[in-house]
Amino acid sequence: MSNYIVLVKQVPDVSQITDNAFDPETGTLVRSRLASVINELDAQALAFANKMRRDSGSTLSTTLKTGVLTAGGDKAGSTALTAGGKIIALSMGPPMAEEVLRYSLSRSADIVILLTDRALGGADTVATANPLAFAIRKIVKEIFKEDNDYYVITGMQSVDGDTAQVPAQIAEELNLPCIAYVTDAEFRDNRPACPEYPTQEKALPKDGTAGRFEFTRIISGGSQTVAAKKLPAVITVAKYEYPLFATFSRTRWANKSFDPAQDGTQVLHWSASDINATHIGVTGSKTSVIRVFPPGKSTRKCQQISDAESLAKILVESFKTCGELVESSGNGQTGKNGQAQAPRYVLPNKRSSLFNRSFEGTKKEREDYEILSEKLKKLGITKTNQIDDSSKEKILEAAGEHFHKKALEDMIEGFKLTKPSFEGEVWVVAEHSDGVIHPSTFELQGRARELADSLETKVGVAIAGFNIEAMPKELIAAGADNIYIIEDKLLEVFDPTAHRKAIADAISTYWPQIVLYAATPQGRMLAPMVSYRVSCGLTADCTGLDIRDSSRKGDIGLLLQTRPALGGNVMATIRTKNSRSQMATARPGVMKRIPPDPSRKGKIIRHKVKLTEDDVNLEIIKTELGSGEVNFNADVIVSGGKGMQSRDNYEQLLSLLCDAMSKRLDTQVERGASRAAVEQGFIERVHQVGQTGTSIGPKLYVALGISGAIQHMIGVANTETIVAINSDPNAPIFKQCDYYIVGTVEDIVPSLVQALE
Ligand SMILES: Cc1cc2nc3c(=O)[nH]c(=O)nc-3n(C[C@H](O)[C@H](O)[C@H](O)COP(=O)(O)OP(=O)(O)OC[C@H]3O[C@@H](n4cnc5c(N)ncnc54)[C@H](O)[C@@H]3O)c2cc1C
Repeated sequence: MSNYIVLVKQVPDVSQITDNAFDPETGTLVRSRLASVINELDAQALAFANKMRRDSGSTLSTTLKTGVLTAGGDKAGSTALTAGGKIIALSMGPPMAEEVLRYSLSRSADIVILLTDRALGGADTVATANPLAFAIRKIVKEIFKEDNDYYVITGMQSVDGDTAQVPAQIAEELNLPCIAYVTDAEFRDNRPACPEYPTQEKALPKDGTAGRFEFTRIISGGSQTVAAKKLPAVITVAKYEYPLFATFSRTRWANKSFDPAQDGTQVLHWSASDINATHIGVTGSKTSVIRVFPPGKSTRKCQQISDAESLAKILVESFKTCGELVESSGNGQTGKNGQAQAPRYVLPNKRSSLFNRSFEGTKKEREDYEILSEKLKKLGITKTNQIDDSSKEKILEAAGEHFHKKALEDMIEGFKLTKPSFEGEVWVVAEHSDGVIHPSTFELQGRARELADSLETKVGVAIAGFNIEAMPKELIAAGADNIYIIEDKLLEVFDPTAHRKAIADAISTYWPQIVLYAATPQGRMLAPMVSYRVSCGLTADCTGLDIRDSSRKGDIGLLLQTRPALGGNVMATIRTKNSRSQMATARPGVMKRIPPDPSRKGKIIRHKVKLTEDDVNLEIIKTELGSGEVNFNADVIVSGGKGMQSRDNYEQLLSLLCDAMSKRLDTQVERGASRAAVEQGFIERVHQVGQTGTSIGPKLYVALGISGAIQHMIGVANTETIVAINSDPNAPIFKQCDYYIVGTVEDIVPSLVQALE
C-alpha cells in the first residue's frame, strides 16, 4: 500500500487584500499585513492524497477483518479505518508554519514535519526544491524504511510564488516521474477477485501489477489520462474540489500532538543540518529579486453599465470605433496589459559614449551613473584613465548622499566593461503537437530576435520530437538563425523526463546565454526540470524580458525577467545568478511574433541524444483534444462559462446573442467557452479560450458567466474591447474588462438581445 508525502505551504491570504496592505509610498504589498493561511491548492493536495489512500485501500477495507490503522487514526481513535499507507505532511518555513501542519494533522496527516532554519530563508525555487527533496530522502529512509512505494503530492503552485517550479525540480533532484496539473485519479485494481484479507495482502505483488493509479491532467488543447511507469512519483494537483473537514476529536488530537508535554511523536522539527541539502537559502539560489513594484494600471476601462439597453449601444459603438485607437507598443508606452515597454537595449560600445550608462537595471544605478557622467563632462574627462584622485574628490562632493568612495570606484570599474557577462545565442525551446507548432513558440521567437539583435548574437530554436522535418522552415521564417533538432521515436509524444534529457543535453553542449520556454502547462513542466538539470536559474511566467546592465557590480547585458507575483498584486524583476545560462518561461499572448519571412535563411543542426525506454517515465493512456472547425479569427466572440448553468442554457442564450450581434453588427460572431464550461459539457472543447485553449484577439469579446481566472484571461489579452456579464458583483473579470453588467445571464441576455434588435 502506497505512502504519501504531501507538501504544504503557509502563504499570505491574497484573497483578503485590503488597501492598508499596501505601502502608501511604494505602492507594494506588505506581506506581514496579510493573514497567513494554508496554500489552497496544498489543502486540495492533502484531500487528494486522502482520496488516493482511500481508493487504493477500498477493496481491502471492505474485506477488512482486523484492519490496519494509520498512525493518525490510531492516536485519534475516531477516524475511519484505512488499509495502511501513511500521509506525511511536510512544510518548509518559519516556526509559525506549524499552523498548516496542525491543519494537516487535523484532516488526514499521520505525521507532520516542519523543516525550519534561518539558513533556509530567502530561497528561490532551486533552494526550496533541493532541501525539500533531501527531506523526502530522509523520510523514505527513516520513516518508510526505504520502501519506495510512495507518492509526493503537492498543489500545482503556491499563490505567493505562482511558479509551479518546485514540484518538477523536486522530481528532478530525486529522479522521479512527475505528473503535473492533475485533476483526478482513478485506482485500477488488478488484484484477483476477493481472497480473504490478510491472505490477499500477502499475495500483492510489489511491482505495481496489483493495481495502479491513472491520473487525469490538463494539457494544452484538452486533457490526458496517464500513469507513472514506476513509483515513487510526484503528482501536482491543479484542482480537487472535495475539501477535507476536521472532526472535533481529530482537532483535539492534532493540538495535543503539538504539545511537548503530551505524546507529540507525530510532530517532527528538522533543521538544515538534519537534511544536508546541497542548495539552501540565498547562497544556494540561482535567481535574485532586484526590484518589486506595483503592477501598471490596466488600460481597460472597467466601467459598470446599469442596464442592457445602454450596454447594447456600447457594443455597437465599440465595434464601430475599434481599430481607431491603435495601441502603441513604442518605447515607454503602456500596453493593454499595463506593462510599460522599456527602451531597446544597446551594448556599451555601440552607445554615443562609454559614459552613457542609461541601461542600468535599477533606478538608483541609473541615477548614480547620471550624476557621475554629468560631473565627468563638467570636468572635461572623456576617458576613465583621466580620472585621478582630485577629480574623484570633486565627484564625491557633487554626489553628496548618493554614493560614497567604494561605490564610485566600482562605477569607474563598470565604465571599463563593454562585453556581455553571458555568452552564446538566445534560444527558444519549441513546443508542438500533432505536427503543429504552438503559437507561443513564434511569440517567443519575436522577443528572442529583439534580444539577440541587442546582444549582437543569433537566435537558436531547440526542437525535440519525431517526424518534425517540416518544422525548421517555419521556425526560420519566424526569425530563427539556427535550429537545433533532436529527433527520436521516443520523443514522439511529450514525456517530461525524456524531453528534458534531450533539451538539457543540447543546452549543455551549445550553452546559449538565454533560454526561453512558453509558460504553457508543457513549458512550465519542462523548463524547471531542464534548468535544474543544467544547474541554471529559472523565472516563471514572465510578462517582460529586457536586457540591462549592472555595471558597478560587473555585469553587462543581463536578462531582466519581470513577472507578476502574489496573485498579480505585485510585479517583481528578477535576475539570474550562479548560472551559465539565463532561463525564463514567458506568458503566452504577451510577446509579439514577427511577420513570417519565407525568404529568411537559417542553419539546421542535428543534435544526437542517446535515449532508451528507461528515459520515458509516463504511460499515456488516453488523450482528449478538441476537434472540429471554429473561426476564432471572427471580429466578435461570445463566450459562455460555468455560470451558464447547463448545456441547454448555453445553447439557447448564446444562439440568441450571437444571432442578434451578427445581424446588428453585420459580422460573423463565433462562440467561445471557458475551460470549466467545456468540462461541464456545455460545448465541445475546440471552443475553449485561454491558456490551454486558443488565444484570441477579436475586436469585441463578450464573456457570459465567466469569473476571469488568469488562465482564461491570458487567452483574451489581445482583445480590443472586453464586455462581461456576471451575477457576482466581486467577479475578478470586472477588474479586467472594459464594460460590465452585474446580473444573471438569464436576465440580461434576453434584454440585451431585444435592445440590439
Ligand atoms: C493549467 C491550467 C490551465 C487552464 N487553462 C484554462 C483555459 O485555457 N481556459 C479557461 O477558461 N480556463 C482554464 N483553466 C481553468 C481556470 O483556472 C478556471 O477554473 C476557469 O477559467 C473557470 O471557468 P469559469 O469562469 O467558467 O467558471 P467559474 O470560475 O466557476 O466561474 C463561473 C462564474 O459564473 C458566474 N455565474 C454563476 N451563475 C451565473 C448566472 N446565472 N449569470 C451570470 N453569472 C453567473 C459566477 O459568479 C462565476 O463568476 C486552467 C486551469 C489550469 C490549472
